[in-house]
Amino acid sequence: MSERRPIIAGNWKMHKDHLEAIQLVQKLAYHLEEHDYEGQDIVVCPSFVALRAIQNLIQADKLPIELGAQTVHAEDEGAFTGEVSARMLARLDVRYVIVGHSERRALFGESDEVVNGKLRAVHKHGMVPILCVGETLEQRDAGQAVEIVAEQLRGSLAGVKLAEAQDLVVAYEPVWAIGTGRTASSADAQELCAAVRGVLAELFGQAIADGIRVQYGGSVKPGNVRELMSQPDIDGALVGGASLSSEDFALIVGHRRR
Ligand code: PEP
Repeated sequence: MSERRPIIAGNWKMHKDHLEAIQLVQKLAYHLEEHDYEGQDIVVCPSFVALRAIQNLIQADKLPIELGAQTVHAEDEGAFTGEVSARMLARLDVRYVIVGHSERRALFGESDEVVNGKLRAVHKHGMVPILCVGETLEQRDAGQAVEIVAEQLRGSLAGVKLAEAQDLVVAYEPVWAIGTGRTASSADAQELCAAVRGVLAELFGQAIADGIRVQYGGSVKPGNVRELMSQPDIDGALVGGASLSSEDFALIVGHRRR
């Protein structure tokens, strides 16, 4: 198995205006100094309106943090009122783009086909997609979790080339664990993350699948991150609520030394 660099990403959702975002990143940088964050990728995904301010801050202070966006449009430009393209994000030094988050799928009707278009646009502009997949509680209770996740992966990754697949992060996020305080047990999370890797191996071959980072997301907190991250197929975390606290997010990043 190849060595996979852990990746901890904070999804701020529709929280924090650009001034609050600056404050949060400044505090995060302060708290990170109390922890061992070396050897990991640390990503924050603010709202679009804060990207420019955070880009400036990261560059000016040479912070060990990378910039992510929460969604994107598939086209480079055009009459798509309110949308933001991958080309625009790349120009802001955005490195990661979340695609297919369950809130986008459920609230904005994004199908696997739509997610696929976004993911390919992200690759086209040299950024790394964080592709979210995950089952609902009904689907889990019906024993369909693996099947649903496999279907989302196959649909969202259709047409992706081997060279592009190397630059991919997948976030397994059971919908019932997002923002609910309910975390999947580490065994369940491991089982599904291993299943994700199995589908990636079918699509791209075992060697590439072994290099792709798979995150777990769903109520990750300082108190549960260590056990989750100790699972062999979990290479990181996508963090919602706890990423809005600089102390908690720094503790999550620094989980190894506690
Ligand atoms: C998320 O929205 O991706 C997420 C995992 O949220 P939370 O950590 O709040 O469950």
